[in-house]
Amino acid sequence: MVCYARKSNLLKPSGGISGASLPCIATPAGFLFGNCQMKTCTTCLTGKPESDFYAIAGRKTSRARCKSCDKKAIDMRRKANLQADVAQVLAAYGVRTGIIEKQTICFTCKQEKPLDKHHEDYTKPYEVMWLCRMCHAQMHADKRRQK
Ligand SMILES: [Zn+2]
Ligand SMILES: [Zn+2]
Ligand SMILES: [Zn+2]
Repeated sequence: MVCYARKSNLLKPSGGISGASLPCIATPAGFLFGNCQMKTCTTCLTGKPESDFYAIAGRKTSRARCKSCDKKAIDMRRKANLQADVAQVLAAYGVRTGIIEKQTICFTCKQEKPLDKHHEDYTKPYEVMWLCRMCHAQMHADKRRQK
């Protein structure tokens, strides 16, 4: 682990003697410092200065994830969304052309309802599960909880 405080010289004790720096002690929970305000990112578990975390509007605390982890997460979400969009377009095409057999009964609740095409795997756009809106929403909620 790298001590960012030392590097960026954040460790000047407020109003203290210039040049004097307190030792940094690395612990599993982050760094222990005297006056230094370090925060440990919950994702990369690296101790970083407060300026490496985005502020939350209207709140005193900043985000639990550091800026670079935040950016990575946004990027991944964007990619996943894009993949989902592509899969939906291909699935619609699959239904039109008969590659995918259209169903009218929800896979989960076995009721006849207007159905969504749910993908377990977006890299397999023609493998769809037909779910009604409610079961579909439930499916995604369950998946989120599993993560
Ligand atoms: Zn991080
Ligand atoms: Zn259903
Ligand atoms: Zn789905």
